[in-house]
Amino acid sequence: MSTFKAPKGTYDLTPPDSAKYLAVREALSAPLKNSGYGYIETPGFEDVALFSRGVGESTDIVSKEMYTLTTKGGSELALRPEGTASVLRAALEANLHKLGNLPVKLWYSGSYYRYERPQKGRYRHFSQVGAEAIGAEDPALDAELIILADQAYRTLGLQNFRILLNSLGDKECRPVYRDALQEFLRELDLDDDTRRRIDLNPLRVLDDKRTEVQKQLVGAPVLRDYLCDACKAYHEEVRDLLTAAGVVYEDDEKLVRGLDYYTRTTFEFVHDGLGSQSAVGGGGRYDGLSEMIGGPALPSVGWALGVDRTVLALEAEGIVLELPSSTSVFAVPLGEEARRVLFAKVTELRRAGVAADFAFGGRGLKGAMKSANRSGARFTVVAGERDLAEGVVQLKDMESGEQQAVALDVLVAEVQQKLA
Ligand code: AMP
Repeated sequence: MSTFKAPKGTYDLTPPDSAKYLAVREALSAPLKNSGYGYIETPGFEDVALFSRGVGESTDIVSKEMYTLTTKGGSELALRPEGTASVLRAALEANLHKLGNLPVKLWYSGSYYRYERPQKGRYRHFSQVGAEAIGAEDPALDAELIILADQAYRTLGLQNFRILLNSLGDKECRPVYRDALQEFLRELDLDDDTRRRIDLNPLRVLDDKRTEVQKQLVGAPVLRDYLCDACKAYHEEVRDLLTAAGVVYEDDEKLVRGLDYYTRTTFEFVHDGLGSQSAVGGGGRYDGLSEMIGGPALPSVGWALGVDRTVLALEAEGIVLELPSSTSVFAVPLGEEARRVLFAKVTELRRAGVAADFAFGGRGLKGAMKSANRSGARFTVVAGERDLAEGVVQLKDMESGEQQAVALDVLVAEVQQKLA
């Protein structure tokens, strides 16, 4: 213990658990790398206004949850609470939409920050893998992203998740629905905070989890009845493509999500083993966001999958990922001379591409063999003075327990052959 602890709502990733997180990140991004998405990385902080304009002043994320700061130079910055606005900002800044064909397909992975009330599955620092397809209005693109997320979760072995799907309409039909909903909500018996929300962001009231609110929402106008023909046709096409791909989803009228920029398709992946923080991922179409942040019209769609919650979902389903050991050979020298010789061999093995480690710190044979075991290495190489005098080392296969003397100068080749 030091005097310090990880800040409230955060946790550290340490070995051996951290390997699981890396594997999850890798699995979540693998389908994207295989589907034409290029890697993008943006700063951990941005101009506050990017989020207040993009994500929306009235959203919880912007109004309550942002970590904001004023720099010594007087700039107003915020730690990024989500990825989409930053990625679109960066794509526009780099003119990616002008350089090649549309859509521009990008994927990313990183840390995000929200000042939320911490609980299991909800942290102030969390990790996402995200994807954005910028500059095309094509239902196949919405379907592609949902299919790829489904594939990512399935390759991890997850089964108990559901896909919720909705359409939020577009700038033609949503305002008409919004008016109708506001009219309905204004007649209800609601607290002041919620009344304010009716003006600012009435769709969010539908998302209210309290039963006394939900009871009153029975009979509220539903968006589906207000969708314009173009939105309806678009949504039907997304649904058909998902069905054709064998991806099972549930229509969820109430799925509005917490960000203002969504239009048309919205979706969420929820896991049934996670309690209240059940969303493992989510996303949707954001046809107006580019213009909201001063860019040209670029209809786009994207998602972000939560790494932390995906790990919790794996645990909830009792899935243990098979992670290959990161060390193949562990060298245990007995005596000073052997230390020098084996250290050189470890270097040689590593340069030849074999993952190798060494018993540092000059401990005895017993302690060193413990480290070898813990490393998960397939082979140990042990050598003492007598071995060296004969020009050999003892190569032990930790799986079979077999041990053989191997000439020093063919050790690397021998190990490579056995590992192949
Ligand atoms: P959102 O942008 O809120 O839809 O977030 C996308 C995904 O990121 C969610 O489905 C969660 O898996 C994850 N996520 C969002 N907020 C948090 C948080 N505070 N702690 C952990 N994971 C989060």
